[in-house]
Amino acid sequence: MIQNADTAPGPGKAVRKVVIAGGGTAGWVAAMSLSKYFEGLLDITLVESEEIGTIGVGESTVPPIVAFHRALGINERDFMTQCAATFKVAIWFENWGRLGDWYLHPFGRYGEPAQMIHFYHFWLHAREKGLKVPLGEYCYEWLAAVKNKFALRENPRINYAYHFDAALYARYLRKFAEQRGVKRVEGKIKTVRTRDGDGFVESLELESGKILDGDLFIDCTGFRGLLIEGALKTGYEDWQHWLPCDSAVAFQTRVDTPAAPYTACHAHTAGWRWNIPVQHRVGNGVVFCSQYMSADEARALLIKDSGGAPVKDPWLIKIKAGRRKQAWNKNVVAFGLSAGFIEPLESTSIHTITTAAMRLINLFPFGGVNDYVRDQYNEQTRYELERIRDFVVMHYHYNQREDAPFWKMCREMEIPESLRTRVELFRQGGYVYSKDNELFTVDSWLSVTMGQHIQPRTYNLFAGQANQELKAFMTQHRAKVAEVVNALPTHADFVKQYCGASEAAWLVPGGESGEKAR
Ligand SMILES: Cc1cc2nc3c(=O)[nH]c(=O)nc-3n(C[C@H](O)[C@H](O)[C@H](O)COP(=O)(O)OP(=O)(O)OC[C@H]3O[C@@H](n4cnc5c(N)ncnc54)[C@H](O)[C@@H]3O)c2cc1C
Repeated sequence: MIQNADTAPGPGKAVRKVVIAGGGTAGWVAAMSLSKYFEGLLDITLVESEEIGTIGVGESTVPPIVAFHRALGINERDFMTQCAATFKVAIWFENWGRLGDWYLHPFGRYGEPAQMIHFYHFWLHAREKGLKVPLGEYCYEWLAAVKNKFALRENPRINYAYHFDAALYARYLRKFAEQRGVKRVEGKIKTVRTRDGDGFVESLELESGKILDGDLFIDCTGFRGLLIEGALKTGYEDWQHWLPCDSAVAFQTRVDTPAAPYTACHAHTAGWRWNIPVQHRVGNGVVFCSQYMSADEARALLIKDSGGAPVKDPWLIKIKAGRRKQAWNKNVVAFGLSAGFIEPLESTSIHTITTAAMRLINLFPFGGVNDYVRDQYNEQTRYELERIRDFVVMHYHYNQREDAPFWKMCREMEIPESLRTRVELFRQGGYVYSKDNELFTVDSWLSVTMGQHIQPRTYNLFAGQANQELKAFMTQHRAKVAEVVNALPTHADFVKQYCGASEAAWLVPGGESGEKAR
């Protein structure tokens, strides 16, 4: 333990007592991660209100969650069984580039790296020479999604993420966090007390009169942002002019088809609809822009297009794309929805909770909160969110839909300069990059760029130099992808055999495996 920190109140005070406000996915990921790494070093309390409940959506993830779970010591099979999870190898986009078309964002690589030049340059060359095979047929995850297949395997490995029940996930993490000493307090936060002078948060007063004091507070109170915004007035950078959908309607239906290994995202006239299959039900929702579609229209569209018998009635959620100007302000660090929100099109929100947790663990202010560590944390957070934002904006802006004014508005809207530069780079010569640990790989950028019908003017001419070899290499690789994928079991069969459980295992005390109030 670090002994030499200043113990006087204020900035520089040793941080030992952590209070987590909120017990949704963000709260319990924070509790689980901090207690795993700092068990015995920190005194951690989490307060949540069953009466308020959680947002009740957020069930589709991206591949880094697999490594995150490993780092936390989570047993995959146990987690999947307890959280009704399924595998996800891709996102399926329908009607995005043009009405009637579809593309996939698979979680793998196209082809093999060939002499330092990305495979797709070879594919572009071959296409110019008459090849009719889609790029996706050179990617294991793409073909697995198309054929509804999956298994855990190595050499080649099939990359994946999960779909899971959010309420069960919070309950699952809670069990481990409590085993490692996290204290859970049930109650509603009434007042956030700040200190005279530096304005640091000193304590939370609950409606019961109980006072929770701490050195560092993690705000996981969702869109409310009770500490980071309510008390500290940190400010919000609004991104709605780039991500104009401001509402969502969600509901759950019974399973009526075998679970697919992908999240489906169908664009409609004023946004899009998701479909997320977990083991015991399907999560559905419509994300929309209220300027172009009413909540009643969205609800009707959701019920008509989702199919399946409803498990619970649709509920409306207001959303606002953007980020908290400082995710870490004074002695408050915001995680999850209280730190910012990028709509769920690429399922990135839970990911940013896990990266926030790892970032805080690496930059933990044992010796006291100081401007350097706070600024470093905020800078890393800003960079991460802006890259994700650009990736999501790309789906909206680069569309060729002529059927609805919403899509015209998206085409005509200004976009971030960072995105424009990236797309122009691709247009000029098929240049794609991914840097500084950003979430999306070259293959991810490529999938969406090409899926939205952005075409490069040329490609790396090196790819044209080995015509015969190239032909043989491409034929062999495509055959190998087909052979491996054809030999896989169906995704639904694999889930049943690997982590299937009875519905009783998933019942949350006090109700359906879902949130309470909204
Ligand atoms: C429509 C939609 C779809 C989404 N889909 C995805 C997806 O597919 N993938 C993905 O990664 N993310 C998705 N997200 C985001 C995801 O839902 C969130 O990132 C995740 O659930 C974390 O939420 P949270 O814990 O920050 O907030 P919440 O779930 O809202 O939890 C807030 C917590 O704070 C507590 N609280 C609030 N006020 C008080 C108070 N006064 N006193 C005590 N406790 C209080 C609540 O009780 C609750 O425990 C989606 C979001 C939306 C809106």
